[in-house]
Amino acid sequence: MMTRPKKIAIVGAGIAGMALAILATRQGHQVSIFERGSTVSTSGAGVTLWPNAMFVMQKMGLDKKVIHVGGTPCMMRQFDRCGLLQTEFDISAVNSLCGFPSVTVLRRELLSLLTGALDSLDCKIKFRCAITTADVMKLSQEFNLVVGADGRMNSVVRQALYAERIPPRYHGFVNVIGVGRQREGSLSNAIDDFRGRGERFGIVPVNNEWCYWAGAWNAPVNDERLRAHYFDELHQRFQDWPDPVQNILQSCDKASVKCIFVHDIDPLTFWHRDNILLIGDAAHASLPTSGQGACQALEDAWHLARLLSEIDDIEIVPESFYQLRHSKTSAAQLTGRQVADKIFSAQPEPLLPATNITTAELSRFWMQGLT
Ligand SMILES: Cc1cc2nc3c(=O)[nH]c(=O)nc-3n(C[C@H](O)[C@H](O)[C@H](O)COP(=O)(O)OP(=O)(O)OC[C@H]3O[C@@H](n4cnc5c(N)ncnc54)[C@H](O)[C@@H]3O)c2cc1C
Repeated sequence: MMTRPKKIAIVGAGIAGMALAILATRQGHQVSIFERGSTVSTSGAGVTLWPNAMFVMQKMGLDKKVIHVGGTPCMMRQFDRCGLLQTEFDISAVNSLCGFPSVTVLRRELLSLLTGALDSLDCKIKFRCAITTADVMKLSQEFNLVVGADGRMNSVVRQALYAERIPPRYHGFVNVIGVGRQREGSLSNAIDDFRGRGERFGIVPVNNEWCYWAGAWNAPVNDERLRAHYFDELHQRFQDWPDPVQNILQSCDKASVKCIFVHDIDPLTFWHRDNILLIGDAAHASLPTSGQGACQALEDAWHLARLLSEIDDIEIVPESFYQLRHSKTSAAQLTGRQVADKIFSAQPEPLLPATNITTAELSRFWMQGLT
């Protein structure tokens, strides 16, 4: 490290906070990480780590481990609701251009790898510490840098920076997600996406044992009826969809299924004040249709750790970070909204590919800034 070690407080032990804690601790910084929960939250089904995220996993020394527990799909296929193939996307081709694989992994496995890496660095998460906006101000006196990695909906660090509440935005569709058992011998190397009018069912293979999936459809937010009955509604909506969807519905157990009214936030005009800085979903939450939430959270961690190793003057780091990251994360937020619009708007375009981006364009976008 070319710079002097710093005292860094991280609020939130999600993917962004833990990845930053790992990278910054390895560089010799003194990291304290505060989490409101009594454990790391493993709720949610799975994530796809596209090549940009695998670049960061490699920098953390976790790439081989995540490949070991995850899957490496080669194709992404889009079908209509009758199972007719509409488009295919060659994931292997984009992986080759990027120089990194794409890996699908259950969220609980990814979080367990991150907590394992933190343990091995002897960096202990301070659990049951729900930080308040007043605490943020105190931390900013005690630490050289306070990093808000406290998520999309109610980030207190974002609240400490902005006088007005930043309202997370709902885009009119609910996501019901879960983890499913693979049927013996049925491991596919393709991520499959089935689309109807304003409805979608995606299935992501992970390994011989597991896959994860999401069913989504237009629904008003905070619909108590839906929350109570989402499991029945899922079955009812997708009951005559193709066999792979039926297999999931028949084998999934209610306890593992979650109903999420997914929100994002508008791109923010700043992420910092003095030595208080936002990263991850707190700074730039995007819709799941971007496929980039966890990937951008990991990128944030790597970029911030790199800036900390290159710039000794802590006052310069937050603004440098914003300049470096804002355009890419805003593009991911916008893509998430555009794809969601195509599928879930009042006039959906269900049979068209969600994006017309080429493999070369996508690989350039994903790997932008990662050298
Ligand atoms: C349905 C769904 C599907 C998704 N699919 C994908 C995908 O396929 N690929 C992908 O890349 N991304 C995906 N994402 C997005 C991804 O999961 C998130 O973008 C990513 O986890 C962001 O991580 P984070 O660390 O910023 O926030 P979070 O994971 O939300 O972590 C925030 C942490 O801060 C803690 N916290 C909050 N407030 C406080 C406080 N006051 N004090 C202390 N601790 C606090 C929370 O308990 C939590 O542990 C999906 C998201 C959803 C909802």
